[in-house]
Amino acid sequence: MRIAWQDAGWEGLTARVGRCRLPVWDCTSGLVAGDEGALLVDAGATPAQGGRLRAAAARLLGGGRRVTHLALTHPHFDHVLGAPAFAGAQFHGPAGAGVLLAADTEGLRADAVRHGVAVQDAADAAGALGRLARDTAHAPDAPDAPDAVRRTADPSRPTATAPARPRPPDTRTGARAPGSAPAPAPASPWHPVTDRQALDLGGGVRALLLNVGPGHTAHDLAVLVPGGDGEPDVVFCGDLVEESGEPQAGPDAVPGRWPGALDRLLALGGPEALYVPGHGAVVDAGFVRRQRDQLALRFGVS
Ligand SMILES: [Zn+2]
Repeated sequence: MRIAWQDAGWEGLTARVGRCRLPVWDCTSGLVAGDEGALLVDAGATPAQGGRLRAAAARLLGGGRRVTHLALTHPHFDHVLGAPAFAGAQFHGPAGAGVLLAADTEGLRADAVRHGVAVQDAADAAGALGRLARDTAHAPDAPDAPDAVRRTADPSRPTATAPARPRPPDTRTGARAPGSAPAPAPASPWHPVTDRQALDLGGGVRALLLNVGPGHTAHDLAVLVPGGDGEPDVVFCGDLVEESGEPQAGPDAVPGRWPGALDRLLALGGPEALYVPGHGAVVDAGFVRRQRDQLALRFGVS
Protein backbone atom coordinates (compact mmCIF):
# COMPACT_ATOMS: atom_id res chain seq x y z
CA MET A 1 0.00 0.00 0.00
CA ARG A 2 1.41 3.36 -1.03
CA ILE A 3 -0.31 6.38 0.45
CA ALA A 4 0.03 9.68 -1.39
CA TRP A 5 0.13 11.88 1.69
CA GLN A 6 1.57 14.96 0.01
CA ASP A 7 -0.83 14.79 -2.94
CA ALA A 8 -3.69 15.04 -0.45
CA GLY A 9 -2.13 17.94 1.43
CA TRP A 10 -1.09 15.78 4.37
CA GLU A 11 2.36 15.48 5.91
CA GLY A 12 3.74 11.96 5.51
CA LEU A 13 5.75 10.95 8.59
CA THR A 14 6.37 7.34 7.57
CA ALA A 15 4.93 5.18 4.80
CA ARG A 16 1.90 4.35 6.97
CA VAL A 17 1.62 7.40 9.25
CA GLY A 18 0.62 10.91 8.27
CA ARG A 19 -0.96 13.94 9.79
CA CYS A 20 -2.65 17.19 8.80
CA ARG A 21 -3.04 20.53 10.51
CA LEU A 22 -6.67 21.57 10.51
CA PRO A 23 -7.71 25.15 9.74
CA VAL A 24 -8.81 27.81 12.25
CA TRP A 25 -7.64 26.19 15.52
CA ASP A 26 -4.57 24.47 13.99
CA CYS A 27 -5.34 21.18 15.66
CA THR A 28 -3.39 18.15 14.43
CA SER A 29 -5.14 15.01 13.26
CA GLY A 30 -3.11 11.87 12.50
CA LEU A 31 -3.84 8.77 10.44
CA VAL A 32 -2.23 5.34 10.92
CA ALA A 33 -3.00 2.96 8.06
CA GLY A 34 -2.77 -0.81 8.47
CA ASP A 35 -3.72 -3.41 5.89
CA GLU A 36 -6.97 -4.17 7.72
CA GLY A 37 -7.70 -1.26 10.03
CA ALA A 38 -6.99 2.45 10.24
CA LEU A 39 -6.62 4.64 13.30
CA LEU A 40 -7.36 8.36 13.33
CA VAL A 41 -5.87 10.41 16.17
CA ASP A 42 -8.17 13.32 17.12
CA ALA A 43 -11.18 14.35 15.11
CA GLY A 44 -11.14 18.11 14.70
CA ALA A 45 -13.18 20.93 16.23
CA THR A 46 -16.50 20.83 14.41
CA PRO A 47 -18.84 18.37 12.72
CA ALA A 48 -17.71 19.81 9.37
CA GLN A 49 -14.02 19.22 10.19
CA GLY A 50 -14.86 15.67 11.27
CA GLY A 51 -16.75 15.05 8.04
CA ARG A 52 -13.88 16.37 5.93
CA LEU A 53 -11.41 14.23 7.88
CA ARG A 54 -13.55 11.15 7.33
CA ALA A 55 -13.66 11.81 3.58
CA ALA A 56 -9.94 12.62 3.40
CA ALA A 57 -9.05 9.42 5.27
CA ALA A 58 -11.21 7.36 2.90
CA ARG A 59 -9.44 8.90 -0.12
CA LEU A 60 -5.99 8.29 1.42
CA LEU A 61 -6.78 4.68 2.35
CA GLY A 62 -8.51 3.88 -0.95
CA GLY A 63 -10.32 0.69 -1.88
CA GLY A 64 -13.47 1.59 0.03
CA ARG A 65 -11.62 1.41 3.33
CA ARG A 66 -12.42 3.68 6.24
CA VAL A 67 -11.30 4.68 9.72
CA THR A 68 -11.97 1.77 12.09
CA HIS A 69 -10.52 3.27 15.30
CA LEU A 70 -10.57 6.83 16.62
CA ALA A 71 -8.28 7.88 19.49
CA LEU A 72 -9.13 11.12 21.31
CA THR A 73 -6.09 12.50 23.13
CA HIS A 74 -8.03 14.66 25.59
CA PRO A 75 -11.52 16.10 26.03
CA HIS A 76 -11.01 19.59 24.52
CA PHE A 77 -13.45 20.78 21.88
CA ASP A 78 -10.87 21.29 19.11
CA HIS A 79 -9.83 17.62 19.34
CA VAL A 80 -13.18 15.89 19.89
CA LEU A 81 -16.18 17.68 18.36
CA GLY A 82 -15.59 16.11 14.93
CA ALA A 83 -15.85 12.65 16.51
CA PRO A 84 -19.56 11.99 15.79
CA ALA A 85 -18.63 11.88 12.07
CA PHE A 86 -16.91 8.57 12.82
CA ALA A 87 -19.98 6.65 13.93
CA GLY A 88 -19.28 2.98 13.37
CA ALA A 89 -15.63 3.22 14.44
CA GLN A 90 -14.26 2.10 17.81
CA PHE A 91 -13.55 5.09 20.08
CA HIS A 92 -10.59 5.20 22.49
CA GLY A 93 -9.93 7.85 25.11
CA PRO A 94 -8.05 8.21 28.37
CA ALA A 95 -9.99 6.72 31.28
CA GLY A 96 -12.20 9.36 32.84
CA ALA A 97 -12.66 11.38 29.66
CA GLY A 98 -15.81 9.49 28.75
CA VAL A 99 -17.41 10.28 32.10
CA LEU A 100 -16.51 13.92 31.65
CA LEU A 101 -17.83 14.13 28.10
CA ALA A 102 -21.08 12.46 29.16
CA ALA A 103 -21.57 14.55 32.28
CA ASP A 104 -20.49 17.98 31.06
CA THR A 105 -21.96 18.35 27.60
CA GLU A 106 -22.84 21.95 28.42
CA GLY A 107 -19.27 22.79 29.45
CA LEU A 108 -17.88 21.38 26.22
CA ARG A 109 -20.50 23.23 24.16
CA ALA A 110 -19.89 26.53 25.92
CA ASP A 111 -16.11 26.26 25.56
CA ALA A 112 -16.44 25.58 21.83
CA VAL A 113 -18.78 28.55 21.33
CA ARG A 114 -16.42 30.78 23.32
CA HIS A 115 -13.67 29.81 20.86
CA GLY A 116 -15.76 30.55 17.78
CA VAL A 117 -17.62 27.34 16.91
CA ALA A 118 -21.17 28.02 15.63
CA VAL A 119 -23.75 27.64 18.42
CA GLN A 120 -25.83 24.92 16.74
CA ASP A 121 -22.77 22.96 15.57
CA ALA A 122 -21.33 22.98 19.10
CA ALA A 123 -24.63 21.89 20.66
CA ASP A 124 -25.21 19.10 18.13
CA ALA A 125 -21.68 17.70 18.35
CA ALA A 126 -21.35 17.96 22.15
CA GLY A 127 -24.74 16.28 22.55
CA ALA A 128 -23.90 13.45 20.15
CA LEU A 129 -20.53 12.83 21.76
CA GLY A 130 -22.05 12.96 25.24
CA ARG A 131 -24.66 10.35 24.32
CA LEU A 132 -22.00 8.12 22.81
CA ALA A 133 -19.78 8.34 25.88
CA ARG A 134 -22.71 8.04 28.31
CA ASP A 135 -23.62 4.55 27.14
CA THR A 136 -20.34 3.19 28.43
CA ALA A 137 -19.68 5.62 31.24
CA HIS A 138 -22.80 4.42 33.04
CA ALA A 139 -22.33 0.73 32.30
CA PRO A 140 -21.81 -1.16 35.57
CA ASP A 141 -18.50 -2.71 34.57
CA ALA A 142 -16.92 0.16 32.66
CA PRO A 143 -13.46 1.14 33.94
CA ASP A 144 -14.44 4.67 32.91
CA ALA A 145 -17.39 4.77 35.28
CA PRO A 146 -17.26 6.75 38.53
CA ASP A 147 -17.23 4.66 41.70
CA ALA A 148 -20.84 5.53 42.43
CA VAL A 149 -22.01 3.60 39.38
CA ARG A 150 -19.22 1.02 39.03
CA ARG A 151 -20.57 -1.79 41.14
CA THR A 152 -18.03 -4.44 40.22
CA ALA A 153 -14.76 -4.63 38.35
CA ASP A 154 -14.91 -7.21 35.59
CA PRO A 155 -11.52 -8.31 34.19
CA SER A 156 -13.28 -10.12 31.35
CA ARG A 157 -14.75 -6.89 30.00
CA PRO A 158 -14.45 -6.88 26.21
CA THR A 159 -11.68 -4.82 24.66
CA ALA A 160 -11.35 -3.37 21.18
CA THR A 161 -9.85 -6.60 19.91
CA ALA A 162 -12.00 -9.07 21.83
CA PRO A 163 -15.52 -10.18 20.92
CA ALA A 164 -18.36 -8.94 23.08
CA ARG A 165 -19.26 -11.19 25.99
CA PRO A 166 -22.74 -12.70 25.51
CA ARG A 167 -25.39 -11.32 27.81
CA PRO A 168 -26.70 -13.96 30.26
CA PRO A 169 -30.28 -15.14 29.76
CA ASP A 170 -32.94 -12.99 31.39
CA THR A 171 -34.40 -15.27 34.02
CA ARG A 172 -36.63 -12.56 35.47
CA THR A 173 -39.08 -12.34 32.62
CA GLY A 174 -38.74 -15.72 30.97
CA ALA A 175 -39.33 -13.88 27.70
CA ARG A 176 -36.67 -15.81 25.83
CA ALA A 177 -37.81 -19.12 24.38
CA PRO A 178 -36.02 -22.14 25.88
CA GLY A 179 -33.09 -23.26 23.78
CA SER A 180 -32.78 -20.03 21.82
CA ALA A 181 -29.39 -18.32 21.69
CA PRO A 182 -28.83 -15.47 24.15
CA ALA A 183 -28.94 -12.05 22.57
CA PRO A 184 -25.42 -10.62 22.22
CA ALA A 185 -24.64 -7.57 24.29
CA PRO A 186 -24.44 -4.47 22.13
CA ALA A 187 -20.76 -3.78 21.47
CA SER A 188 -19.90 -0.45 23.01
CA PRO A 189 -17.90 1.82 20.71
CA TRP A 190 -16.20 3.55 23.66
CA HIS A 191 -13.01 2.05 25.10
CA PRO A 192 -11.40 3.86 28.04
CA VAL A 193 -7.62 3.43 28.24
CA THR A 194 -6.62 3.05 31.88
CA ASP A 195 -2.99 2.18 31.26
CA ARG A 196 -2.26 1.01 27.71
CA GLN A 197 -4.09 -0.53 24.78
CA ALA A 198 -2.42 -2.14 21.76
CA LEU A 199 -4.12 -2.05 18.37
CA ASP A 200 -3.04 -4.39 15.58
CA LEU A 201 -4.10 -2.71 12.35
CA GLY A 202 -2.76 -5.44 10.05
CA GLY A 203 0.25 -5.68 7.75
CA GLY A 204 2.65 -5.29 10.67
CA VAL A 205 1.24 -1.86 11.60
CA ARG A 206 0.59 -1.48 15.30
CA ALA A 207 -0.35 1.43 17.54
CA LEU A 208 0.00 1.66 21.29
CA LEU A 209 -2.41 3.95 23.14
CA LEU A 210 -1.06 5.10 26.50
CA ASN A 211 -2.64 7.01 29.33
CA VAL A 212 0.30 9.31 30.14
CA GLY A 213 -1.46 12.10 32.03
CA PRO A 214 -2.57 14.01 33.84
CA GLY A 215 -0.93 17.20 32.66
CA HIS A 216 -2.55 19.40 30.01
CA THR A 217 -5.86 18.05 31.35
CA ALA A 218 -6.84 15.46 33.94
CA HIS A 219 -7.07 12.93 31.07
CA ASP A 220 -4.25 12.82 28.49
CA LEU A 221 -3.63 10.03 25.99
CA ALA A 222 -0.59 9.56 23.74
CA VAL A 223 -0.28 7.28 20.71
CA LEU A 224 2.98 5.51 19.81
CA VAL A 225 3.37 4.00 16.35
CA PRO A 226 6.55 1.89 16.23
CA GLY A 227 8.62 2.38 13.10
CA GLY A 228 9.98 -0.36 10.89
CA ASP A 229 12.38 -0.80 7.99
CA GLY A 230 14.53 2.11 9.13
CA GLU A 231 11.56 4.38 9.74
CA PRO A 232 11.26 6.32 13.00
CA ASP A 233 8.76 5.76 15.79
CA VAL A 234 6.02 8.38 15.82
CA VAL A 235 4.48 9.72 19.03
CA PHE A 236 1.23 11.70 18.88
CA CYS A 237 1.41 13.87 21.97
CA GLY A 238 -1.94 15.67 22.08
CA ASP A 239 -1.62 19.05 23.74
CA LEU A 240 0.97 17.83 26.24
CA VAL A 241 3.33 19.32 23.64
CA GLU A 242 2.73 22.46 21.59
CA GLU A 243 5.11 23.91 19.02
CA SER A 244 3.13 26.85 17.65
CA GLY A 245 2.93 28.65 20.98
CA GLU A 246 3.33 28.26 24.70
CA PRO A 247 1.47 25.19 26.02
CA GLN A 248 -2.03 26.16 27.10
CA ALA A 249 -2.71 25.53 30.78
CA GLY A 250 -6.42 26.15 31.38
CA PRO A 251 -8.45 25.62 34.54
CA ASP A 252 -8.58 21.88 33.89
CA ALA A 253 -4.78 21.49 33.67
CA VAL A 254 -2.82 19.61 36.34
CA PRO A 255 0.37 21.70 36.20
CA GLY A 256 2.28 19.92 38.94
CA ARG A 257 2.12 16.63 37.05
CA TRP A 258 2.65 17.94 33.51
CA PRO A 259 6.48 17.57 33.52
CA GLY A 260 6.09 13.97 34.67
CA ALA A 261 3.74 13.29 31.73
CA LEU A 262 6.44 14.60 29.37
CA ASP A 263 9.00 12.34 31.04
CA ARG A 264 6.70 9.41 30.22
CA LEU A 265 6.36 10.63 26.62
CA LEU A 266 10.14 10.81 26.26
CA ALA A 267 10.57 7.35 27.75
CA LEU A 268 8.00 6.11 25.27
CA GLY A 269 9.51 7.51 22.11
CA GLY A 270 13.18 7.73 23.03
CA PRO A 271 15.70 10.09 21.45
CA GLU A 272 15.01 9.26 17.79
CA ALA A 273 11.22 9.42 17.55
CA LEU A 274 9.17 12.04 15.75
CA TYR A 275 6.97 13.84 18.28
CA VAL A 276 3.73 15.25 16.86
CA PRO A 277 2.32 18.08 18.97
CA GLY A 278 -1.36 18.90 19.27
CA HIS A 279 -0.61 22.24 17.63
CA GLY A 280 2.36 23.13 15.45
CA ALA A 281 5.23 21.51 13.59
CA VAL A 282 6.60 18.03 14.28
CA VAL A 283 9.47 18.20 16.81
CA ASP A 284 12.25 16.02 18.19
CA ALA A 285 13.05 14.70 21.66
CA GLY A 286 15.28 17.71 22.37
CA PHE A 287 12.35 20.07 21.88
CA VAL A 288 10.12 18.00 24.19
CA ARG A 289 12.88 17.92 26.81
CA ARG A 290 13.29 21.72 26.69
CA GLN A 291 9.52 22.26 26.88
CA ARG A 292 9.40 19.89 29.85
CA ASP A 293 12.05 21.93 31.66
CA GLN A 294 10.29 25.23 30.83
CA LEU A 295 7.00 23.89 32.19
CA ALA A 296 8.70 22.65 35.36
CA LEU A 297 10.15 26.15 35.84
CA ARG A 298 6.82 27.83 35.03
CA PHE A 299 4.87 25.64 37.45
CA GLY A 300 7.55 25.46 40.14
CA VAL A 301 8.01 21.69 40.10
CA SER A 302 11.10 19.58 39.50
ZN1 LIG B 1 -6.13 20.92 24.67
